[in-house]
Amino acid sequence: MTDYEVLVLGGGPAGITIAKTLDGAKDLAVMRPENHSMVYCAMPYVIEDLLPMEKTLKEDSLVTDTGADLIRDYAVDVDFDEQVVTTGAGDKYGYEELIIATGASPVLAPVGGTDLDGVTTFKHEEDLNRILNQVDSEVEEAVVVGAGAIGIEMSQALNEAGLETHLVDMEDSILPHLLDAEMVAEGEEQLEDLGINLHLGAQIDSLNGTEKVEQVKLADDETIDFGPQGGLVVFAIGMQPNVEFVENSDLEIGQLGIKVNSKMETNLDNVYAVGDCVEYKSAITDEVTGGNLATNAVPMGRLLAQNLLGADREYEGFYNGCATKVNDLFVGGTGLLEKEAAKDYDIVVGKAEFTTAFPIMPFAKPVKAKLIINRDNLEILGGQIVSGEPATDKIDKITMAIQYGIDAEELLDFSYSSQPYQSFFPAHNLLVKAAENALSKLT
Ligand SMILES: Cc1cc2nc3c(=O)[nH]c(=O)nc-3n(C[C@H](O)[C@H](O)[C@H](O)COP(=O)(O)OP(=O)(O)OC[C@H]3O[C@@H](n4cnc5c(N)ncnc54)[C@H](O)[C@@H]3O)c2cc1C
Repeated sequence: MTDYEVLVLGGGPAGITIAKTLDGAKDLAVMRPENHSMVYCAMPYVIEDLLPMEKTLKEDSLVTDTGADLIRDYAVDVDFDEQVVTTGAGDKYGYEELIIATGASPVLAPVGGTDLDGVTTFKHEEDLNRILNQVDSEVEEAVVVGAGAIGIEMSQALNEAGLETHLVDMEDSILPHLLDAEMVAEGEEQLEDLGINLHLGAQIDSLNGTEKVEQVKLADDETIDFGPQGGLVVFAIGMQPNVEFVENSDLEIGQLGIKVNSKMETNLDNVYAVGDCVEYKSAITDEVTGGNLATNAVPMGRLLAQNLLGADREYEGFYNGCATKVNDLFVGGTGLLEKEAAKDYDIVVGKAEFTTAFPIMPFAKPVKAKLIINRDNLEILGGQIVSGEPATDKIDKITMAIQYGIDAEELLDFSYSSQPYQSFFPAHNLLVKAAENALSKLT
């Protein structure tokens, strides 16, 4: 049996970040089963033929250059008393400190026919290969289930690859957990203009066929018929934490994953968990919320590794700033949606619409912002951006205001910059104007 000071289960962004942050300071091993760690976020762009597959494969040297061992295996059991992990290959590894960073896997809907050929989820290298094979075959039509960021990116990629593509979601608007409905209406039009068939407010009833999936039946009896050559159905409806191997142990596991405190400590001594496999809280409401983003997993991993090196840092919780691209719109959101915030707070909403450059510049594109503000104390609870130019910087600025307690009134004094190529006229700043708009509704 090999013993390690720190054993990390999982070689995704969280596990890699831990190895890089510890950088040889501990006798460390990272265990993961797959051939390659992947740049998941870029996988849709392989289908779209924008990137070769190889560009999405991370080098093992990200881990091994730190001096850590990379174990190509997976944990099937942990003896938390003896501090020993047993693997699928039957090997045993001892640890002084165990970090569970096993991530989450996409789920299929609980409907009939998900075992038919042509039905897949989308995360792993095999999923990508399966989809690429389908795209290269005689298959002409695809259904993507789930209009979150992954579903949106996947449906555009399949459409771009030449498949007649349908996007189905039970909610009435696309990106239902990222932006409020009115902010994505233009995005929906753009998807339809691209030729993507939207089925919103629609649920999958069953997938039908003999070997291949030949028909998708929706709950309202509408059918999408692929014919005998079959079609492709990709589920992008959510994730479940990879925790089966510890499910019958004393480790506390909630609905969304392993329970941790602000130091990423579990209820068991010397056992930590980070990334998509944990259940944690919203930094805004303090309530348990989903947070399956690399931009949550990486900071959790970094913080834990720094604490193992002697720091005393605490993880606040999820803000869930996230972005995607809908044709030529860059869209994103952070914090609470209006529809979520309205349940628990008395809110006021502020909006502003300008251009991404001085409007007299030939390339200026529309950009709009929405801020959701708590009427009682003017704290910002959430924000959304729809822009003709990349939006993550603006989303991050809103997150920063939420995170560091800059309220709507303080935002009025925000000292911004302006330049003809890069912003609206100096007279106005998008976020300042959105705050001003909200505050004007209070009097
Ligand atoms: C298509 C797609 C696009 C995405 N786009 C974005 C984006 O744009 N921005 C963003 O922030 N996030 C994005 N995400 C989410 C992001 O990829 C995840 O939040 C992130 O990968 C979580 O990191 P993690 O290290 O916690 O888990 P994972 O990346 O899931 O890694 C888990 C690791 O644990 C291993 N493992 C699992 N079980 C075991 C076991 N029993 N023993 C040992 N190892 C095990 C896995 O094989 C894997 O190596 C995207 C995800 C997908 C699928």
